[in-house]
Amino acid sequence: MSTATSPAMISAAGVNKFFGDLHVLKDINLEVPRGQVVVVLGPSGSGKSTLCRAINRLEPIDSGEISIDGEPLPAEGKALAALRADVGMVFQSFNLFAHKTIVDNVMLAPVKVRKIAAAEARKTAMGLLDRVGIADQAAKYPAQLSGGQQQRAAIARALAMRPKVMLFDEPTSALDPEMVQEVLDTMTGLAADGMTMLVVTHEMGFARRAANRVVFMSDGEIVEDATPDEFFTQPKSERAKDFLGKIL
Ligand code: ADP
Ligand code: MG
Repeated sequence: MSTATSPAMISAAGVNKFFGDLHVLKDINLEVPRGQVVVVLGPSGSGKSTLCRAINRLEPIDSGEISIDGEPLPAEGKALAALRADVGMVFQSFNLFAHKTIVDNVMLAPVKVRKIAAAEARKTAMGLLDRVGIADQAAKYPAQLSGGQQQRAAIARALAMRPKVMLFDEPTSALDPEMVQEVLDTMTGLAADGMTMLVVTHEMGFARRAANRVVFMSDGEIVEDATPDEFFTQPKSERAKDFLGKIL
């Protein structure tokens, strides 16, 4: 285990992104070592979602370089599809296929993209549903599940592709309050299993407990990059103090 010499699992170097005249990512430099959990905080519009989308190239960048496990993300083509499969993503909206059962949702991409045999993919999918605590919901359709169960199904679906990293963009923001914890618990379990995770969230309890680092974004910039303890007790910038004053 020579972590010192292995490349960062996620690396962004000098990343810039514009939407027209709007400079939404400003010289972003971020390294997430293997197994780390980084929580990204920041006000609405600060570029958090764009950063997530840039990391798996759902959004092209204008300059800089993003690498996953030492491999620079190619701009397009088959190589991009392969690397993108290494990056699991979970959004605020679960985006499950409504006309497919939960287990079918989870096994779909492994069968279609990874060309795994259906029987094997189903077995793996059931194992993942068990891991996120909803194996008993496997034969139901998404609309028959609670929001929290649907989001856990979405996490299982992302895991089915055996990603090297998982990106979460406000995974609990659309949930009723009583369902937030079950999703956060699932994520905490994933972190404990050693998954490398970048998590955009407003759940400060999760940031304090589960994050190795907190990255604070404002206006397209990374303004602070600190341990949760440092960030919450001694924020350095006025912008972070202002942000924390509003949410805590
Ligand atoms: P956050 O996730 O932190 O709320 P976003 O990354 O969604 O921020 O947005 C950053 C900025 O980019 C905002 O000003 C937003 O309005 C703008 N933006 C996001 N997506 C687009 C788009 N597709 N076209 C134009 N502007 C966009
Ligand atoms: Mg966002």
